[in-house]
Amino acid sequence: MTWWLGFEMGSAASIEVRTHTALHVLKGAVMKVLGAKLTAGVGVEGSHGRLTVQFDRKPTDEELVKVEALANAKVRENVPIQVLEMERADAEERWGDLIYDLFPLPASITRLKIFYLPGWNVNACNKEHTMATGEIGSLKIAKARFRANKQLLEISYDIL
Ligand SMILES: [Zn+2]
Repeated sequence: MTWWLGFEMGSAASIEVRTHTALHVLKGAVMKVLGAKLTAGVGVEGSHGRLTVQFDRKPTDEELVKVEALANAKVRENVPIQVLEMERADAEERWGDLIYDLFPLPASITRLKIFYLPGWNVNACNKEHTMATGEIGSLKIAKARFRANKQLLEISYDIL
């Protein structure tokens, strides 16, 4: 029964942890390049991920290339990821509602885990993350789909 102990204690992050962490890095790049602030949905399956943000048009190919390049630059920078456990009121005072995107938490939750990549992405998130962005590997945007009727932009990507 050592294999799972080894996994728990090992330093290598699982593929889904890497793919999930990539969502945060991609979101920061999407915010910087497109100005899209609010996440409307996320999906992770193995090395495949999908980020859906509120947006009002189909991005150009050049913009998507820029998003991908910026996300990968952040990965290569290998920035340590901070996970802060703090009072909800303190987190809201510091960052506002942005930490929730479109997913408000019940009032009964008074302490939060905050994913914090300074200058890039801050999010209330209790999922597991890599220790630093470099562990993600590299990120390749597979496709982008704009749903005009819902004003949603879905960006699918793969972790290599
Ligand atoms: Zn997360």
